[in-house]
Amino acid sequence: MKICTHCVLPETFPNISFDDKGVCNHCLSFKGEAKLKGDKAEYLEKFKELIVKTQKTSDFDCTLSYSGGKDSSYTLYVLRKIFNLRVLALVFDNGFLSTQALSNIHIMTETLGVDCQIFKPNFEVIRKVFKHAVVHPMYSPKTLERASTMCTSCIGLVKFIFLKIAIEKNIPMMAWGWSPGQAPIRSSIMKINPALFKMTQEALKKPMVEVVGADINPYFLSDEQFKDSKNFPYNVSPLAFMEYDEDKIVEKLKSMGWRAPDDVDGNSTNCLLNSLSNQIHINRYSFHPYAFEIAEMVRSGVMTREHGLKKLSESGDAATVEMAKKKLGIS
Ligand SMILES: [Zn+2]
Repeated sequence: MKICTHCVLPETFPNISFDDKGVCNHCLSFKGEAKLKGDKAEYLEKFKELIVKTQKTSDFDCTLSYSGGKDSSYTLYVLRKIFNLRVLALVFDNGFLSTQALSNIHIMTETLGVDCQIFKPNFEVIRKVFKHAVVHPMYSPKTLERASTMCTSCIGLVKFIFLKIAIEKNIPMMAWGWSPGQAPIRSSIMKINPALFKMTQEALKKPMVEVVGADINPYFLSDEQFKDSKNFPYNVSPLAFMEYDEDKIVEKLKSMGWRAPDDVDGNSTNCLLNSLSNQIHINRYSFHPYAFEIAEMVRSGVMTREHGLKKLSESGDAATVEMAKKKLGIS
């Protein structure tokens, strides 16, 4: 298979094209590392200004959507120790959190002195959605260029359940542990636009309603909540504008007691459903759901191409895939 000679995107990626040196259109339009460095400094300043503007306006300065994985654990450290924020860590337990991830959540929140709230939705509802995702793409092809159907469902629920909590507690900022490949720097600090989010909610909720009906309602915002837009918080992704070096991050986390789980694939440090959802996506579209994110990290210089290709070639633990299938009730 032809793969971009600069990043890791394969010829099977939607609407990709290559020049005569085999470099893809995404790499050709990349503005370069120097520009990225300037953007990072600019957004770091923006973040500091936002903290001054919003701090102490609520019992918590920000929420963090926390999975116990590497990136969100490091984000928790950054928010707490570098920016000295009062963080409410919010955990979404989709029924497939690895035991080590749960243990990491306990260790990191205790070490860093952070309040933590775990939200575990009715597994029967979630199971039906995931099981449906095994055979139905559910969302637009554009959405599925960047994540599998299961990941999109899960993250979609996380976004709205946690937004509800932030609004109800009047918390001015929602932080995310997106890697630099997942969060483009230009959207790393953004006040949530209610009209735009209402459209996003509709696109996510509609296919889920078709599967589980009104049982999905508690996880989304009501029309009333969308009308009262003054309480909508900012979305912030600190790893987009902080230094990002995977080895250094893991080393720092280990010094605080965090341990890498050994039952997940190389693209996740928390979720036992990931390998199965990756396999389904690759079979359906012939490209890896993490390809876009990893290509972005290779392009921006935070990951080597070799390391990126290795991550995309890992197939995940067969026993974990079997366990996930069994728990979903599929053969
Ligand atoms: Zn490329």
